[in-house]
Amino acid sequence: MYFCSINPNKTLFMRTIDEQGYHFEEWLTPEEIAKDVKQVAATISKDYQGQEPLFVVVLNGAFVFASDLLRALHDVRCEVTFIRVSSYWGMSSTGQLEFIVPLQQVVENRDVIIVEDIVDTGLTIHQLKAHMRGLGVNSIRVATMLFKPEKLEYDDAKPDYVGHEISEEFVIGYGLDFDGFVRNLDAIYKVKE
Ligand code: 5GP
Repeated sequence: MYFCSINPNKTLFMRTIDEQGYHFEEWLTPEEIAKDVKQVAATISKDYQGQEPLFVVVLNGAFVFASDLLRALHDVRCEVTFIRVSSYWGMSSTGQLEFIVPLQQVVENRDVIIVEDIVDTGLTIHQLKAHMRGLGVNSIRVATMLFKPEKLEYDDAKPDYVGHEISEEFVIGYGLDFDGFVRNLDAIYKVKE
């Protein structure tokens, strides 16, 4: 269910959503997201000039960010593949990473850029990096739309390219789900207590 209300801190009208008994308020508008994506794409384009990176998109959440990011790259000849993992149910991590769809592509000697929707504890990235190092990658970097630095528990999971930092709140939209739903929202919404 979508609502509009007056937001004294940001724009005149702010969209809100009620989902499964929780109230969410729009935090990043589509325009703000587009700006973040453009900035990340420009930095990656500069860093990978003359190289042929392999983007590994972490499904399900990263498909929206990846789609915008990859189309915003300038002059980067690249390949894209997908991996599907899961560590979350509802609003918290289970601490266990499940490989639902494993890597389909050879990553040996490749310069890999993992594309994530959000880095929270860093467990997903920590385990994915270990997995890919075992497969003989040449280098690994991480691009994520959102990063929760205060929640990071694994040093090697600190992302290299970040669209926007966020504190500890749970967010939905732009690929991020709530029990499988609301990934299709064009903005990012924060839960309100
Ligand atoms: P991590 O392994 O870094 O703890 O968590 C990474 C995964 O947890 C993300 O890919 C995402 O699926 C999920 N996640 C973490 N924080 C949030 C959040 O605020 N909202 C949603 N919808 N998912 C989150």
